[in-house]
Amino acid sequence: MGRHNRVYAKIDLGAVAYNMEQMKLRIGGGAQMVAVIKTDGYGHGAVPIAELFEKTDYVWGYAVATLEEAVGLREAGIRKPILVLGCVFPDQYGEMVSYEIRAAVYTKEMATGMAEAAKKKNKTAYLHIKIDTGMGRIGFPASDESADVIAEIAKFPYAKAEGMFTHFAKADETDKAFTLKQHERFIRMQKALEERNTVIPYLSCDNSAGIIDFPEFKHHLVRAGISLYGMYPSDEVDKSAVCLRPALELISHVSYVKEVEEGTPISYGGTFTAPKRMRVATIPVGYGDGYPRTLSNKGAVLIHGKRARVLGRVCMDQFMVDVTDIPNVRFMDQATLIGCDGNERISVEELSRLSGRFHYEFVCCLGKRIPRVYTLPGEACGPKDMEYGMPSGYTLPGEACGPKDMEYGMPSGYTSPGEACGSKDI
Ligand SMILES: *Cc1c(COP(=O)(O)O)cnc(C)c1O
Repeated sequence: MGRHNRVYAKIDLGAVAYNMEQMKLRIGGGAQMVAVIKTDGYGHGAVPIAELFEKTDYVWGYAVATLEEAVGLREAGIRKPILVLGCVFPDQYGEMVSYEIRAAVYTKEMATGMAEAAKKKNKTAYLHIKIDTGMGRIGFPASDESADVIAEIAKFPYAKAEGMFTHFAKADETDKAFTLKQHERFIRMQKALEERNTVIPYLSCDNSAGIIDFPEFKHHLVRAGISLYGMYPSDEVDKSAVCLRPALELISHVSYVKEVEEGTPISYGGTFTAPKRMRVATIPVGYGDGYPRTLSNKGAVLIHGKRARVLGRVCMDQFMVDVTDIPNVRFMDQATLIGCDGNERISVEELSRLSGRFHYEFVCCLGKRIPRVYTLPGEACGPKDMEYGMPSGYTLPGEACGPKDMEYGMPSGYTSPGEACGSKDI
């Protein structure tokens, strides 16, 4: 990694493909997958992930949050359907239609504007009707009046009401009552439309938590986001139902090592003072890279397979760690900020907990300044990776699989869960 000594994110596309396959196994036949790759694929890189699924037949397409994200994918050569989950604004309708980008539609005016833009170009506007069943964000209210409007929209020339979807607000929580209520409202809308002789081909409500805990709500499309990146939506979902592998590691190298005397303050504000003679290493990464400042005096990195805790404040571009008890740490030695080294592992979830940053948010906030380096499916089991040992105290990729999941069988061509961490450890 000569070109990326300072820091790089190692993205294991084999893990992403594996996670997609596990989520598909969970929902079974009938439904197709939508890969949710908003915010540049939750910080992992939207284009390489979309490319990974262009030829996977059970992946219907992709979902993003903005029209700009969708256009970026098209310009990178992505051809499958792309759905914008958020608002497409009126000045963007022309572009939306030209690129055949699907849009969430939740007012009659939107549908009218999109159909008009399509007429001008003699094309079709693909509409995905959004229903608010309890998220309270965007969507037609689940009501008979909305059904009247949607039935009208479905007859617009130059427009095709291709999909109807809703979003669960609490599917990742232990108490499932609210999700059942939301699903009931969604089904009632489907029936209300049928009564108005309106059939929409693609219905969708499950997000990752829904796929894991409500696979029976799959309908035609399910939308997997966080799970593709190897993380569970929360600790309250049934983790034994689906086995996921983390897809991201964050690797840096030591930029300086020094001895300090007792009483030496470290970093801005001197919030840490050496209580004894210590060895201190500097890591050339900071909150400017998305490494949270709230990890000051809290976080840790892995050097030579051991934990080195953060000393003092995290700066914009650097922070210091304690290597007093780690022998022979030198300039340029590898420091693993996220990932496995020896018997230790630092997960996104751990750093999220310590920093008070939601795990979805943590990966989204990894800075643009960090280069992403991709490992293709199969490539992850290189000799170097076999050195990874068993993380102590964390859930290993693979460990979350209950016995039931062993029946899933191995996806062809991918590294098995845990394989990247050395077979002796399984
Ligand atoms: C982000 C998002 C998803 C994906 O949710 P995950 O919990 O990451 O799987 C699905 N649907 C909508 C509408 C979203 O905004």
